[in-house]
Amino acid sequence: MALLRRPILMLARSGRVKEMVTTMPVSAGIVRRYVAGERTADAVRATRELVDAGLTTSIDYLGEDTTDEKRAEATVGAYLELLQALHDAGLATSAEVSVKLSAIGQYLPGGDRVALENARRICRAAGNVGTTVTLDMEDHTTTDATLHTLRELRQDFPGTGAVLQAYLRRTEADCRRLATEGSRVRLCKGAYDEPEDVAFTDRVDVDRSYVRCLKALLAGDGYPMIATHDPRMIAIAQHLVDESGRERGSYEFQMLYGTRPEEQRRLAGLGERMRVYVPYGEEWYGYLMRRLAERPQNLSFFLRSLLSQK
Ligand SMILES: Cc1cc2nc3c(=O)[nH]c(=O)nc-3n(C[C@H](O)[C@H](O)[C@H](O)COP(=O)(O)OP(=O)(O)OC[C@H]3O[C@@H](n4cnc5c(N)ncnc54)[C@H](O)[C@@H]3O)c2cc1C
Repeated sequence: MALLRRPILMLARSGRVKEMVTTMPVSAGIVRRYVAGERTADAVRATRELVDAGLTTSIDYLGEDTTDEKRAEATVGAYLELLQALHDAGLATSAEVSVKLSAIGQYLPGGDRVALENARRICRAAGNVGTTVTLDMEDHTTTDATLHTLRELRQDFPGTGAVLQAYLRRTEADCRRLATEGSRVRLCKGAYDEPEDVAFTDRVDVDRSYVRCLKALLAGDGYPMIATHDPRMIAIAQHLVDESGRERGSYEFQMLYGTRPEEQRRLAGLGERMRVYVPYGEEWYGYLMRRLAERPQNLSFFLRSLLSQK
């Protein structure tokens, strides 16, 4: 199944495949499973349900690789509206937001500056309602720029978090650098199709790297956010947490909306902090294809969803 990951990600770049898939309504089985809906109210509703079950959320307004200024501005607007709606619903302290810099201007002329200014606006709005922002990490060509933006943002908004991807060879060193007081780091395996010179491509090597990175984060003074659905990584994390003497609440687990929901509730039931990453919005294509690539068992479910709309 791991062999299917790269072909699925490559196929996802085809315009025809995109056209065929995006004619599916968001209500189609496979989309609905991974995406909360298209509107702000859908993200708020999903958060309410998860919070009622003892979980917290990080909400992502879907979209990436924007080359259109209006689109980037609309994305910032969507986050501002979302943060206000969470505040109005009394949910802002249980939900933070996840932001992709490529959705808010990184690929526009003067992109790094535009993305930084837009990220500042979102961080300010988040701070005003008592919550924080985490910068998602995209493909490896953007890692340095994203970490630079993070450093800038943290000067004014110290709670801003970032994602590090264990499949990148550089990440263990990045974890050591970022494991400092107040630093929120989400550690995931990584979801993009990366070349071998920058990334481990064998699953076993990625898992080993994940454990080394986790050790570095837990040994430091930051706030590790352990983002994985992998039962082995979760068991190892729990063991390493016990060994490190860290208190509950000085780290958290994170999983994606629709993935292993029973496990999310089980961990929360054990008293662990569990945050669910909730994506919403009309631009769900790239996100859905990455989820399919890492779980090709879902392909038959996906094809049934595609055919049932005909
Ligand atoms: C909160 C969060 C935020 C993320 N943010 C980013 C980001 O910014 N950038 C980025 O590149 N990636 C991000 N990711 C995606 C991440 O990089 C991985 O692609 C994704 O989490 C799959 O890796 P995994 O650790 O779950 O394990 P995998 O190696 O995919 O799976 C290992 C095992 O976990 C179990 N498992 C995995 N998926 C399922 C499933 N659907 N159903 C049942 N069991 C399953 C199975 O036992 C499987 O064998 C994020 C993930 C999370 C959870």
